[in-house]
Amino acid sequence: MSAPLRIAIPSKGRLASPTTQLLRDAGIAVPGDDRRLLVPVEEQDIEMLLARTDDIPTLIRDGAADVGVAGGNQLLEHGSDGLETLLDLGYGSCRLVLAVPNASGISATEHLAGARIATSHPRVLSDYLTAQGLTASVVTLSGSIELAPTIGAADAICDLVSTGETLRQNSLRVIAEVMRSEAVLLARVQAVPDPRIAVLQTAVESVLAARPKRYLMLNAPDSALDAIVELLPGLDAPTILPLARSDMHAVHAVVNAADLPRLLHPLKEAGASGLLVLPIEHLIP
Ligand code: AMP
Repeated sequence: MSAPLRIAIPSKGRLASPTTQLLRDAGIAVPGDDRRLLVPVEEQDIEMLLARTDDIPTLIRDGAADVGVAGGNQLLEHGSDGLETLLDLGYGSCRLVLAVPNASGISATEHLAGARIATSHPRVLSDYLTAQGLTASVVTLSGSIELAPTIGAADAICDLVSTGETLRQNSLRVIAEVMRSEAVLLARVQAVPDPRIAVLQTAVESVLAARPKRYLMLNAPDSALDAIVELLPGLDAPTILPLARSDMHAVHAVVNAADLPRLLHPLKEAGASGLLVLPIEHLIP
């Protein structure tokens, strides 16, 4: 019997809670409130490895886990050799930016020649500086990067920004964007042929596809059926089912949640009744 599929997920930080939620939505019984860092999900032939997000690409590459979730920024920082990105997950969006103190005379990347730049992404920053033809001194820190200029440890920083609140609170302003990043599902290249990874990928992908969609059901009088169907957007034709009453049909359609506010009123005006909108758990188009 083969070893359980080992999935590495962030134990804390911005990606931890959305990752746990995504895997649960995908039907994987991720344990809650468990202090263990390696937790078997026996009935599903899975082991969850709870790790620091920064370490996840390395753990997967080295074979300590088969598949997992990390930020795209970590993949670039720790190298993507031996790893395959299976899916962009649509959360944990952030930008890696260059920022300087508000009072600094530096206003563009070119002014950073010879400067000291603090970062927890030394590899990405060095590659960026090389591409820009700049030589600067990279100060590698693992946390509190925003504090570096205040304490005189750097002239600029290269750090992740999500809302921008941390930069504002530390009187820093952005001068350039180095990369954009979001959470990704990644696997060790040699593990990709394992059919359990395709099963996991399809389950996760179907949850992501379902999230922005809703299942709309309504009853339409036959006299208004064409007009009501005409109002429904979407690539696929809706399902039309006869009702026990001979002068009405039921119409079922998958619609974008974002389209619903402007759809409901015209549907009602056109004669639709018994409107129901339901969440969709999985969608494979
Ligand atoms: P914010 O104040 O929302 O701009 O967040 C900035 C702080 O959160 C910085 O300390 C960043 O290093 C960290 N951060 C922002 N986005 C992410 C992310 N997607 N993954 C990990 N850390 C992040």
